[in-house]
Amino acid sequence: MQKRVLIVGAGLAGSVLARALADAGVASLVIDRREHVAGMCYSSRDPETGVDVHRFGPHTFHTSNERVWQFVQRFDTWYSCVARAMCTNARGVFCLPINLHTINQLFGKRFTPAEARAHIESLQDKSITTPANAEEQLLRFVGREIYETFFRDYTIKQWGVSPRELSADIVKRIPVRFNYDNNYFFDKYQGYPMHGYTALVQSMLNHPLIEVKLNSPYERAMNTEFAHVFYSGPLDAYFDYAEGELGYRTVDFRYERGVGDLQGCSWLNYTDMSVPFTRAHEHKYFSPWEQHDKSVLLYEYSREAGRGDDAFYPKRMPADLQKLAAYLPLMEAEQGVSFIGRLGCYRYLDMHLVVDASLRYADAWLAHRADAGVLLPKCATPAL
Ligand SMILES: Cc1cc2nc3c(=O)[nH]c(=O)nc-3n(C[C@H](O)[C@H](O)[C@H](O)COP(=O)(O)OP(=O)(O)OC[C@H]3O[C@@H](n4cnc5c(N)ncnc54)[C@H](O)[C@@H]3O)c2cc1C
Repeated sequence: MQKRVLIVGAGLAGSVLARALADAGVASLVIDRREHVAGMCYSSRDPETGVDVHRFGPHTFHTSNERVWQFVQRFDTWYSCVARAMCTNARGVFCLPINLHTINQLFGKRFTPAEARAHIESLQDKSITTPANAEEQLLRFVGREIYETFFRDYTIKQWGVSPRELSADIVKRIPVRFNYDNNYFFDKYQGYPMHGYTALVQSMLNHPLIEVKLNSPYERAMNTEFAHVFYSGPLDAYFDYAEGELGYRTVDFRYERGVGDLQGCSWLNYTDMSVPFTRAHEHKYFSPWEQHDKSVLLYEYSREAGRGDDAFYPKRMPADLQKLAAYLPLMEAEQGVSFIGRLGCYRYLDMHLVVDASLRYADAWLAHRADAGVLLPKCATPAL
C-alpha cells in the first residue's frame, strides 16, 4: 500500500496542500500542535458580542490568480468586499494608502492629480541619490513631512527598530496614489468567507483521504513513516536552531468591547508615538453581512518574538538573512522533506500566495512522486 504523506501544520499552506493531494487520490496525515486548524487565519465567535474575530489579526483575502480564487470558492460562500484602512496621528485622521485625499487633507489643498504629483516631487530630498536605508528611501520619494507623519513612528513601533536600520528595499514601492482610490488592495478578487476562516479550512480538510490530528507536535522521528513530509512550521525549529534563531515580531492583543460602533471602521493605524499600539481593528466590519448590536475592538502591540511566542512577521534583517543562507544547505540535504508556508520559507506571505504555492507543490509532488526528493520552495532563498 502507498504510504501517506505527512503534513505538518493545519494552517492554510498545509490544508490547501492536503486537499489538493487528496483530490488527486493521495492520502495524508495533517498534524498541528495547536488545538485548532487554520493557523494564523483562525477565527472564532466572541462569546460576549457574537462577532466573528480573526484571532491573530485581520485577514482580507485578495487575489488576481484565477486558479487560487476558484480553489477557495469550493469551500465557502464568499462575500465580496473592498478593504479600506484609515490612520490617525497628531495631524488628523487620514485614508490609507496615501492618496489624493490624504495629500489634500494633510496640506489643506485641492490639488489635481498632476498638482499633487508636482507637490510631492517638490518635497523629495533629491540630495539622496542612492538611498542606503528605508529612511533615506522614504525621504527621497516623499520628503520629511510625509515620512514623519505616516511612516517613521509606525515603523519603529511595528519593527522595534529605526527605519535607518531597515533595508531600502522594503519600501521600494511606496504606496502613494494620485487619485481618490482608497481600496487597499489592487487585486481583482477580494473578500471574506461567510462562515469564517476556520470553517473554510475545516471544509478543505473534510475529505476521506485526510486525517487531522490536533494538539500533535511534530517530531523528526515521524519522517520515516511517510512517503514525504511537508513542513509548514518554523524553519529554524526544524533544525533545532542549529544555525541560530531567525528573528520574528509577535503581536499581543488587547480586547475592548462595547455597544454600537467603537471605532467606525475596520482598521485604524496609529502612526505616531502618542500611543504604544500600532493599530486597532473592529471585527464586525469584517463580516458586513451580519448585524451586531455589540462590538469588539482589538488593539495590536508589536514586540520581539521569543521561542514560546507566535511568530507573526519574519524580520529578515541582514543577520537573519545570513542565518537563512546557512539553513539552505541543511534544507537541501534533508531528503524527502519540503518546507512550505510562511514559516517554512521564513517570509511574509499573503494568503493567496500561500494557496498558490501549495497548489504548485501538489502539482510538483504528483508529477515527481516516483522519486520524491527535496522540493525547495524558491521563496526560501535569501535573495528573494
Ligand atoms: C497579523 C497578520 C495579518 C495578516 N493579514 C492578512 C491579510 O489581510 N490578507 C492575507 O492575504 N494574508 C494575511 N496574513 C498572512 C496569513 O496569515 C498567512 O498567509 C497564512 O497564515 C499562512 O499560512 P501558513 O499555513 O503558511 O502559516 P500558519 O497559518 O502560521 O500555519 C502554520 C501551522 O503550523 C503549525 N505548526 C508549526 N510548527 C509545528 C510543529 N512543530 N508541529 C505541529 N504543528 C506546527 C502551527 O501551529 C500553525 O497552525 C496576515 C498575517 C498576519 C500575521
